[in-house]
Amino acid sequence: MRLAVLDPLFTWLLLPLGLVLGWALARRRPDGGDKAGFTGEQLGGLLTQLSSDDPDQAIAALTTATEIDPSTAELHLTLGRMFRKRGEVDRALRVHEALVQRSGLAPQQLLQARYELAQDYMTAGVMDRAEQLFDKLAGDGAFVVPSLDAIRTIHEQARDWPLAIEAARRLQSAKGESQRAAIAQYFCEMAEEARRGRDTKEALNLARQALDEDRSCVRALLLLAQLHEAQAEYPAAARHYLKAFEHDPRFLPEVIEPLQRCFSATGDRDGYLLFLRDAKEMTSSSLPFVAEARLLAETGMDPLDHLAQGLEARPSRAVLADFLEILERQPNVVAAGLDKPAASLRQALLRLMESTPRYQCSTCGFSPRQMFWQCPGCKQWGTTAPADDVLRG
Ligand SMILES: [Zn+2]
Repeated sequence: MRLAVLDPLFTWLLLPLGLVLGWALARRRPDGGDKAGFTGEQLGGLLTQLSSDDPDQAIAALTTATEIDPSTAELHLTLGRMFRKRGEVDRALRVHEALVQRSGLAPQQLLQARYELAQDYMTAGVMDRAEQLFDKLAGDGAFVVPSLDAIRTIHEQARDWPLAIEAARRLQSAKGESQRAAIAQYFCEMAEEARRGRDTKEALNLARQALDEDRSCVRALLLLAQLHEAQAEYPAAARHYLKAFEHDPRFLPEVIEPLQRCFSATGDRDGYLLFLRDAKEMTSSSLPFVAEARLLAETGMDPLDHLAQGLEARPSRAVLADFLEILERQPNVVAAGLDKPAASLRQALLRLMESTPRYQCSTCGFSPRQMFWQCPGCKQWGTTAPADDVLRG
């Protein structure tokens, strides 16, 4: 269809044509004459260039043929922004570069043009130039909060955590709003780097600094717990796993097995049972039932009734899979030839569990299979947590 072919061109034309016409109408004098700047002929030329889908010539016309007054500067800014939003960052750069070099701009418009230019460079991935421009703006007291926020994002993307911490602290004092949760995450990133480099002492030190920034940082608590566990310091490890769970009970799936290991290593069965009891009270998860059933099985008792109770109270794939595993080994089930169907059902269930998202971001709903401390969807820190495992009808 011809209209479908033309459609992108129409989309391209409507915005700039509307912009230019709106600008031209706004500056018409009641007596019919134009203010200084565009003549009717020049305006006609610009419209022709835009309507012939030749934005480069239109940019050339804009940046050379007009005198800069507040309304033409506004036109530049709007067109430049539009180019950037359309992903045509090279054109946005040309428009804004030309604008900041013009004399006669009102001070506020010059600052706006510099801010737009910094955003163009950031979008184009020229981060050092973007950072310089944002830093200069913040130093000049213009666009301070968004500029400092952009600098923080630039260092975050470069994974330069010490600079990200510095930028977050500057942002914190400019905005008057705590950035401690984000700063704690940056320390955690550094702690994980140290752990990967097998520098346990430094990793512990950095994880503690993270916790100093944000006492409720679950990531720092889990890191400290794992670092202690790796060094066979089980009571300290258990203490930190428990604290992580208390701060955010959604992290039960992340701590239940490590806690079983730590309590088992110290022979503190009562401590583990107490934790499972608390976990049943504090969450709607079926995992404590599964863990209790495993403990019963270890002591030679039949866990089936307990699992059946769990399945009824908190139906979940995990408890159903364990239930089926025990069921398929029951002599009367085997005698009735039902063990194989039960096993097939369990296998299907396990495959389903493998393909089910295990985590969810509380801000944007992004549901990944693996844990991200910075959500890939909304870029927020510490908003992703294990998803609820209970099945609802
Ligand atoms: Zn998110």
